[in-house]
Amino acid sequence: MAGTLRLPGFVNAHSHTFQRSLRGSAAGGDFWAWREAMLSEAERQTPHIIRSEYELTYREMLAAGYTAVGEFHYLGPAEALAAADAASATGIALVVLHVAYARGGLPRFRQSSVGEFIDQVEMLRNAGIGVGVAPHSVRACPADWLEEIGRYAVSEGLPLHVHADEQPKEIEECLAEHGCRPIELLARTGCLTERTTVVHATHADGAELDLLASSGATICVCPTTEADLGDGFLPTERTRKRSIPLCIGSDSNVRIDPFEELRELEGIARRQTGRRGVFSTEELYDFGRDVGARSLGLDAWPAIEIDLDHRSLGGVASKHVSAALLAGCGADVVVAG
Ligand SMILES: [Zn+2]
Repeated sequence: MAGTLRLPGFVNAHSHTFQRSLRGSAAGGDFWAWREAMLSEAERQTPHIIRSEYELTYREMLAAGYTAVGEFHYLGPAEALAAADAASATGIALVVLHVAYARGGLPRFRQSSVGEFIDQVEMLRNAGIGVGVAPHSVRACPADWLEEIGRYAVSEGLPLHVHADEQPKEIEECLAEHGCRPIELLARTGCLTERTTVVHATHADGAELDLLASSGATICVCPTTEADLGDGFLPTERTRKRSIPLCIGSDSNVRIDPFEELRELEGIARRQTGRRGVFSTEELYDFGRDVGARSLGLDAWPAIEIDLDHRSLGGVASKHVSAALLAGCGADVVVAG
């Protein structure tokens, strides 16, 4: 065996690129303790820092086989332009998922009104940047913001990404404020359509999963981050039974490796069911590529080359290579571009 194998690139549907710098330095405590470290890292960001540091991380993503990324961005509009500059220097296909943030977080995350948020999105579109809208979460956006953003996304045909059901506390707060769970609130406010991607859905209950299935929405699962943050894991058997489309994201970027995300997803499913091959190799590749691209509204993104002489593929028959990549390889099998 020799040479290279050309494959479609992987699509990273959910990234907070600035969080890459926290790996190894924000250990201990729970999700909420980690969030404090994340907020101080967010406070440090400037367009200048983003322009240089995002370029390095986007190059890491390309080297790992991700050739498109959805940047779930809540650091401000000038910083979104800097992220787009960084991406175009590397050749990675970028969609800025511009975040609406009404309350909580840091002042720099917030807009004073939903109108200001939509003006920012329009500015990015006019700059020729691929965009989607991203109400951060039901924690950060009240119902009237969700209604307005849902309407705008539908009328403009834009992707809508939103975090939901990552942590039990968020669900308790939503029940207290609205008398329903986060994904139910998204449905009630017009934010759940076939262009919607719900990030995590870790603690979604059966009724919420039914809403995702009936609306045609996608779940973006981020297994290495969800493990790192102690979030929990996706109820894979229940999403599979409902045929809910899944895509993957590197999220906090503690790891940048699409093979590992997909292997973790299947590993979670095996641990939950006691069966192997809960998702087929073809399904897993579909999650890692086409479903992610659809979630970002992307039609085209670059291909990758696999090094067939890589030591981790030694002795693997060519008909087993694509399964072996998911079962037993890391991102270092990708030929550096
Ligand atoms: Zn996220």
